[in-house]
Amino acid sequence: MEKMQDNQTPKYVIFSGGIGGAKLIEGFYESVDPREIAVISNTGDDIIQFGLRICPDIDIVIYTLSNMVNKKHLWGLEGDTFSCLNMLKTFYGAGADWFHIGDKDFATHIYRTEMLKKGYKLSNVIQNIIDKLKVKCQIFPMAEEYIPTRLETDLGTLHFEEYFVKYQTRPKIRKIIYGGSNDVMIPEKIDSTLSQCEKIIIAPSNPFLSIQPILEIPFYKEILKKNKKKVIAVTPIIKGRAVKGPTISNMKSMGLEPTSWGVAKYYQEFISKYVFDESEVMADLDIIIEKYRKCGIEAFPYDTLMNSIKKKKMLATFIARL
Ligand code: GDP
Repeated sequence: MEKMQDNQTPKYVIFSGGIGGAKLIEGFYESVDPREIAVISNTGDDIIQFGLRICPDIDIVIYTLSNMVNKKHLWGLEGDTFSCLNMLKTFYGAGADWFHIGDKDFATHIYRTEMLKKGYKLSNVIQNIIDKLKVKCQIFPMAEEYIPTRLETDLGTLHFEEYFVKYQTRPKIRKIIYGGSNDVMIPEKIDSTLSQCEKIIIAPSNPFLSIQPILEIPFYKEILKKNKKKVIAVTPIIKGRAVKGPTISNMKSMGLEPTSWGVAKYYQEFISKYVFDESEVMADLDIIIEKYRKCGIEAFPYDTLMNSIKKKKMLATFIARL
């Protein structure tokens, strides 16, 4: 493996949400020099609970790369206990524990909140956390501000995490209200990192709830369009099904075709390459590839189901070579 200077710009920038994104990031992390990787994370899922700032997507990635993640849930910390949350129910009442925060996990949120209160930017606090946990790639929040995604649903307006965790994605979404705008502050190094990197990868994350909150910040949409040639997306849908989560029902409620093709069309204006799942190649591969080509997308079939570290690494290596 080629050694890099510490100050060298990353080769691979990965736009990511939580669980789906973290799998691919782990694949890269285990296949290339970690310093070649930068992650731009959705913070639309961020929430303030018990006065603490929680960044669920960033934390999933950090816990995954530091090998601390709960292997069953793929979020939270392995072996964590819930004494603090149980005690909090004494004060706030039953039901106060709908957002599951373990005792060790609380420490991350307490530290982050305290640093933010002292005036540090979120990107600096995240950098501190990853340094302390010895994660060697860069992880940026999409913006410095707190800009949560809210959803208009049949149960009223909900914070993303209320929809996702409290109500288990059951409410019908009528409209997604993203927090991003022209006014937000983009972490300092992102502009040069995106301009200088070799590849920009859109992870197999939920297009509407994990990736679109980033793209709602006009800076990102513009820079992706400008660098379209090096933007590659990976399908989060395999044979018409999401591996996990509400991606399919979200696509249906947005009036989009709930398939990997539908995702590619959604990203069409700023991607040049797309990895779809090889299990979808039933008949003539050339016909499928031609369909993408007509939309200006070079499409590649590959096994995208990352259910082992070996498969995560294989997919990452495949993408790195595209
Ligand atoms: P969240 O923020 O924790 O919901 O996670 P993401 O938005 O990053 O990921 C959710 C998406 O990842 C869903 O659409 C899943 O179908 C997709 N996903 C999860 N695991 C895999 C996988 O192994 N392969 C592929 N192709 N997609 C996956």
